Amino acid sequence: MPKQPSSYLSSRLKSRPKATGDGNGIFTLQPINKGDLLALFGGVIYEWEAFIHLPELERSLGIQVEERHFLVPRPIGEGDYVNHSCNPNAGLSGQIGLVAMRDIKIGEEVCFDYAMSDTLPYDEFNCECGSANCRGFVSGNDWQRPELQKRYAGFFAPHVQRKIDAQPAEKRAFVRGTRVKKTSGIATPVAAPVYE
Ligand SMILES: [Zn+2]
Repeated sequence: MPKQPSSYLSSRLKSRPKATGDGNGIFTLQPINKGDLLALFGGVIYEWEAFIHLPELERSLGIQVEERHFLVPRPIGEGDYVNHSCNPNAGLSGQIGLVAMRDIKIGEEVCFDYAMSDTLPYDEFNCECGSANCRGFVSGNDWQRPELQKRYAGFFAPHVQRKIDAQPAEKRAFVRGTRVKKTSGIATPVAAPVYE
């Protein structure tokens, strides 16, 4: 009997080849509601020093779960092939959960932005996600981009959120969940965050 994969993928999702011909993606078989759990990543934990010596496939399928710790799937399953998009419909919930950021129609590909988990340069690439807002290159520093901090508020892994919270206030899009309004050089919290 084949061993069960270390990750969980919702039965409402399925891996299949992308229409564009560049590999597989995870697609919806049934409608998904905003907030629904889509996947839970699992596997073996490696520290950075050991992780960077793993084969490229394992590194690309692994996910950063702490400042220097990575979760690598063993055995690999369908749920480990969630692609990156610069205009994602899914985000992280905690260190290993993937949830819908919005309602998702049947047949849409489920993607998250790797900036939600990554703060180290282990999976950097030229992005061809095709989004109108594609940033062209995905790096381990993208979490620092103010527009991403604003757009993905509430969907970053905890270790990334801690780094965002530790940034000087003028660099952050939000302070403790409130928008920073820049007037007279003093950061003034105003309305609740707006997800775009
Ligand atoms: Zn892109």
